[in-house]
Amino acid sequence: MSLETLASRVGFLISRSSTSRGLIPTRFFSTTSTKMALESYTFGPYKIDSREVFYNTNLSYALVNMRPVVPGHVLVCPRREVKRFADLTVDETSDLWITAQKVGSRLESYHKATSLTLTIQDGPQAGQTVPHVHIHILPRKGGDFENNDEIYDALDEKEKELKQKLDLDKERKDRSLEEMAQEAEEYRKLFL
Ligand code: AMP
Repeated sequence: MSLETLASRVGFLISRSSTSRGLIPTRFFSTTSTKMALESYTFGPYKIDSREVFYNTNLSYALVNMRPVVPGHVLVCPRREVKRFADLTVDETSDLWITAQKVGSRLESYHKATSLTLTIQDGPQAGQTVPHVHIHILPRKGGDFENNDEIYDALDEKEKELKQKLDLDKERKDRSLEEMAQEAEEYRKLFL
């Protein structure tokens, strides 16, 4: 078996360069979405369908929200299941925020928003309902809430309702997977 065939079987894309000798593995798999589709993600106790995920790094991933409070309300999580912010390593912390910065700026312009709310509810008494660190990213527009800080009440309300539903029926989802997958597909294009 040639090296080229072998490499393609294990998922490498091979590129030839006039300045280099031989073959260079440039990246895994042919596209980012193929790579993402082959990976598995968990969000606390929930298994996340890879179609909900629109961006990832080795340490973090971004997914669409089952119950968004505003258009473009997404979550950025560490790949490792870590409950509290203080439990992240330095590398995970830095990667998480760099990912949030990138995701936030792309979604702000995609949704023609003019600001962002980035927030972590770190621990149950702070309103955390899913025990896996996540940064909420919410694109903001003038007048989206009558009083600006009502967004935090809206977050809590939606999450309380969702938690009740998930406790009653773990399979039940507010937004269909198809709807979430379609949104994620749109966002994936922002990172090509
Ligand atoms: P928090 O209350 O800060 O823990 O936030 C939990 C967030 O996760 C809420 O915005 C929920 O809408 C969202 N959420 C919960 N389960 C899922 C899921 N399976 N897929 C996507 N978003 C989810």
